Amino acid sequence: MENFDEFDDYRDRISTIGTNGKRVWVYPKKPKGKLYNYRKITALFLLAFFFLAPFIKIDGEPFLLFNVLERKFILFGFPFFPQDFYLLVPVMIAFIVFVVLFTVVYGRIFCGWLCPQTIFMEFVYRQIEYWIEGNNKQQRRLDLAPLNFNKLWRKGLKHFLFYFISFITIVWFLAYIIGMDQVFRIFTADRGSNLALILGVVVFSGVHFLVFAKLREQVCVIICPYGRLQGVLLDRNSIVVSYDYNRGEPRGIYKPHENRATAGKGDCVECSSCVQVCPTGIDIRHGTQLECINCTACIDACNGVMKRMNKPQGLIRYASERSIADTEPLRFNVRILLYSFVLLGLLTLTGFLFSERTELEASILRMSGTMYQEYDAQHYSNIYVIQVVNKTRNTLPVEIELIQPGGEIKMMGGELNIEKGKVGKADFLLVLDKNVVKKSLTNVKFRVLANGREMDVINTSFVGPNSLDRP
Ligand code: SF4
Ligand code: SF4
Repeated sequence: MENFDEFDDYRDRISTIGTNGKRVWVYPKKPKGKLYNYRKITALFLLAFFFLAPFIKIDGEPFLLFNVLERKFILFGFPFFPQDFYLLVPVMIAFIVFVVLFTVVYGRIFCGWLCPQTIFMEFVYRQIEYWIEGNNKQQRRLDLAPLNFNKLWRKGLKHFLFYFISFITIVWFLAYIIGMDQVFRIFTADRGSNLALILGVVVFSGVHFLVFAKLREQVCVIICPYGRLQGVLLDRNSIVVSYDYNRGEPRGIYKPHENRATAGKGDCVECSSCVQVCPTGIDIRHGTQLECINCTACIDACNGVMKRMNKPQGLIRYASERSIADTEPLRFNVRILLYSFVLLGLLTLTGFLFSERTELEASILRMSGTMYQEYDAQHYSNIYVIQVVNKTRNTLPVEIELIQPGGEIKMMGGELNIEKGKVGKADFLLVLDKNVVKKSLTNVKFRVLANGREMDVINTSFVGPNSLDRP
């Protein structure tokens, strides 16, 4: 086991751990190319959404809110209540199945294009690093240089900006929990009474800073559970960033005027451009590896080389291991179509569950500990409590109608108006003719109306005297 050759060595340790067991710092070259531009647009859109969403309000309520402490949740302007948590089970199951199927078919596309870790690392922090410390070679030279004024101000400014952005990001995360108005108050007028919270933000900003200043690709390679799952989720048919070894091998350096086909060389010119741009420091020519986050930087780099050599692009491309081995183009086979169909079905189911969610939730229960009352010589009465959750964005006037049997409802405490996003309660009497109450428990059916529209039908019971107590 001592003499690992170049091709076996990568199997025994991750790319960022050296043979001495120490961290190998990655200095990726700034990528450029078509896919990088698309990723940049995607990242800018997602970052804009992240930073703008806390300012968006619909009818005075935040567009998104995840207030775990007060159990108040608003998704895309729609308030959700603990009563809606039954939706969580099917949605979570759909989400897990979705993640598994999506990864089986499309590999780690999420990691490269949508993951917040990649977006912040590649399109925020790394950009600042290129701006202050220069390209990958200049960064390496700066790290090796002794401490001098140049190194001090560049490192100082970079880390200051890193921490500042981390602080802003954590403040924005807080805005998603308690709302931007509240955050603004905490950091301005109410600073004195919120020192512990402000200290918490400072500490979390420090953790965030360390993730992007120090941990970096280690999050994707070692810490992220989704990354760890790849080993069991990917198979030979999964679409991943792949090197076409049938076309590229045997690799050999480029020599002008040489006919590579006659010289028995494949299309890979051993320029190592694909390795230089890789943010996790791997060589994709070894095949799919756990470190690969499918960022496509190597695709762009290799396509640039192929273009200069007048060769077709796609020596590194999105492909399945099987399509590369069988030298077949990637086709949308039955399996991919079937899985995609299931994914679409799950998305539709989730959308359906949300659309079926009622805007008003009502319950009517007999007041606990009460029995029937002799209302007058001809009538019995029961006391009920109606509880209504108003999930709309408007105040709702709520009414109750008795569907069966015939009788009379007498509200206690006036009309029932429930404010938006609030839970309201009221007591009422149900008065039934003694002739109707023939058993100790009589079935009754109520209709709950809001703004004159039927919102719910509730079945419950009316307590009357049992046969021994009857006159
Ligand atoms: S960029 Fe392309 S040609 Fe250059 S080493 Fe990588 S695979 Fe080979
Ligand atoms: S191998 Fe290519 S796709 Fe994978 S992480 Fe490296 S540069 Fe990105």
